[in-house]
Amino acid sequence: MFENIKDDLKTKFLKYTVVDTMSDEKLAETQHPSSKNQLDLIYLLKKDLEELKIEDISVGKEGVLVAHIPATVENAPCIGLMAHVDTADDVEGNGVKPQVVEKYDGGDIILGESGRVIKRSENLELENYIGSTIFTSDGTTLLGADDKAGVCEIMAIAKLLVENPDIKHGEVEIIFTCDEETGCGMDAFPYERIHCDYCYTIDGGTRYEIESECFNASKVTIDFKGVSYHLGAARGKMVNALTMATTLVNSLPQAESPEATDNRYGYYCPLELNATNDEAHLVVYLRDFELSEIERRENVLKSLCKMVEQLYPGGKTDIKIKRQYFNMKEISNTNPKVLDSIYEAGRRLNQPLFESPIRGGTDGARMANEKGIPCPNIYTGGHNYHSYYEWCSLDAMQDAVKLILEILKIGAEN
Ligand SMILES: [Zn+2]
Repeated sequence: MFENIKDDLKTKFLKYTVVDTMSDEKLAETQHPSSKNQLDLIYLLKKDLEELKIEDISVGKEGVLVAHIPATVENAPCIGLMAHVDTADDVEGNGVKPQVVEKYDGGDIILGESGRVIKRSENLELENYIGSTIFTSDGTTLLGADDKAGVCEIMAIAKLLVENPDIKHGEVEIIFTCDEETGCGMDAFPYERIHCDYCYTIDGGTRYEIESECFNASKVTIDFKGVSYHLGAARGKMVNALTMATTLVNSLPQAESPEATDNRYGYYCPLELNATNDEAHLVVYLRDFELSEIERRENVLKSLCKMVEQLYPGGKTDIKIKRQYFNMKEISNTNPKVLDSIYEAGRRLNQPLFESPIRGGTDGARMANEKGIPCPNIYTGGHNYHSYYEWCSLDAMQDAVKLILEILKIGAEN
């Protein structure tokens, strides 16, 4: 069944990565999709799905494509597979000219005429792909494996299911989204068009890596009100709001900052401070995998506000706390099958899967938080995202397809 899958993935990857789909961060909050060119790929995917005789396909004006492949067994859950078509704008994301390195020889990879080189010594993962096929850009743009590798893998699954009707699976819901890179893609998400019981985003990186946890996130805004006075006669009267704000910032523990933490450690991050001596506006982000640690830090900030008011009599603080998103693991835990299927599929295929926590949020996390749909993330085989040095392994893409297919089969087992 998998004989031609690499050829199929390669053809698709070269076809989709040359379509310009860079999203526009500046327009993303007001316009969905943020750039019209994302629709070019969405409609190309629609056409390719139609060629597979898949009938239930819709594209909304926000640019999200939803397609359904009917179940081949009864009473199995509907499983969603989600990927995003847009590319980042950290470096040029349009005008991609993909390079194919066949039978990779284990050395550095020269990126066209650009003068840029993917160094083997800085990309230890390359060692696993000697002799196989690797995709890169020509060094003048990113590659767009994030997330067109995921798009290709889902398209390959669609083809496999259509051509092999004997495979037992529940209904499969394909979701291609826009504007993931801007963080605004889910603002206009058409929840009314989807009905999967659980979902997987195919938007990870390194082979075998599974991401089922993300941060809990809280945004804390503190307004400081001082007492302004003529500076020449300020003694004992003036209260400087700027000083109050910096006193609070300087009281935050440096060991709990983004620059001092990794893995599962959370942090405070003062992100924005606008201040005069009359008033100050401070934004602090709190991040942690444990909700109780978010609550602890929120309480610390409340205490620090009281401390600052006591240190600077007459000064006032006003603290507002907004929970932004939650660790999606909490939602996955409500349906153990979601994660169990991944690891069972890994065991059956001899894929040594491993878990990495995401130090951020994902579209899947928003889906989990907003609709209670569990949505962990599966690897695609790409590396060095959002950079000229992005590369992707065809072998890893094939493994991702095998893993996803196995997960769908397990989904349909009693
Ligand atoms: Zn992505």
